[in-house]
Amino acid sequence: MKIKAAVLYQPHQPLVVEEVDLDPPKQGEVLVRVAAAGVCRSDYHFMVGESTYLLPVVLGHEGAGIVEAVGEGVTTVKPGDHVIFNFVPNCGFCVFCTTGRPNLCERSATLQQRAFMLDGTTRLHKGAQPIHHFIRTACFAEYAVLAESGCIPVDKGFPLEHAALIGCSVTTGVCAVLRTAQVPSGASVAVVGCGGVGLNVIQGARLVNAAPIIAIDIRDGNLNLARQLGATHTINAGTEDVLRRVLEITNGQGADYSFEVYGGSHTAQTAFDIVRRGGTVVIVGVAPDGHKAGFELITILRKELTIKGSYYGSARPRVDMPLLVRLAREGRLDIGALAQRRYRLEQINQAYRDLEEGMPGRGIIVFPH
Ligand SMILES: [Zn+2]
Ligand SMILES: [Zn+2]
Repeated sequence: MKIKAAVLYQPHQPLVVEEVDLDPPKQGEVLVRVAAAGVCRSDYHFMVGESTYLLPVVLGHEGAGIVEAVGEGVTTVKPGDHVIFNFVPNCGFCVFCTTGRPNLCERSATLQQRAFMLDGTTRLHKGAQPIHHFIRTACFAEYAVLAESGCIPVDKGFPLEHAALIGCSVTTGVCAVLRTAQVPSGASVAVVGCGGVGLNVIQGARLVNAAPIIAIDIRDGNLNLARQLGATHTINAGTEDVLRRVLEITNGQGADYSFEVYGGSHTAQTAFDIVRRGGTVVIVGVAPDGHKAGFELITILRKELTIKGSYYGSARPRVDMPLLVRLAREGRLDIGALAQRRYRLEQINQAYRDLEEGMPGRGIIVFPH
């Protein structure tokens, strides 16, 4: 079928919104009409050449939609069902899947492999030219073909725009607290970087009754939103001495848990500097390829620090996404406050300019059908 999609042909050039071909779903795959797709920074690294991917590619990995058709053997969803996209569709059988860590599934091992469906081919093409799928989701498009395990059913009464944000930022942020770090009630939490994911780390910290919850960013707009979503203290890293302020707020101790949620060497260093003895640094932000951090080894030893990576919040999407939907319904997670701007697919380059300029909260591409 012919669909409209936003294609990245070359870094440093705008996405091209054009008609491309999408083949029908094969065995174990699902065709979904995309309803909403979030404007996440992870895609942006590839647009500006900070990270490399197989090109051309349809970007977009945070989304939700309505099942249009299913391929042979699909049993967990049917046409008409609403689904959240899980950008780590997993095999269900490898050592990680069977030990409760589906986000590390061996079938999703490399970024290169993830430019294709699980069978190693693409459903997207333009005439004879194959077009790659961004991390097996490719939802900056009117329709997407996903693996069955990439479709998490969601109740039809739940707004699809909110469901879309559960596809990446809400799950990554909230589950970084609940699953990766398992922050106990009463622990102090500092969050470095309060974009779409960082705001959800703050919501996660509020959910487990962390105290204090310190939001750190260079933009007052992000900090205001952070306060609205549960931060008890805010620090503008552009104008204040972050370490001194964190020590003041934590009675000279530093934070029990610090989360790096921007994706950069400098912010990782900040997260490292502000954690207390025996504390845990959690790396959540997606840094560009090759970026490194220079933590002092002796400090890790003397302070007995733990440094943890958090990929997709260590979430089990089939369990955790329905939980997040429930929490949102009960008013314990505020997804509406995150969704600050709406765009049509044709406006996607503007959406990324707004992200780059630091507009607070999440932008969402909405698809009128
Ligand atoms: Zn994302
Ligand atoms: Zn697996």
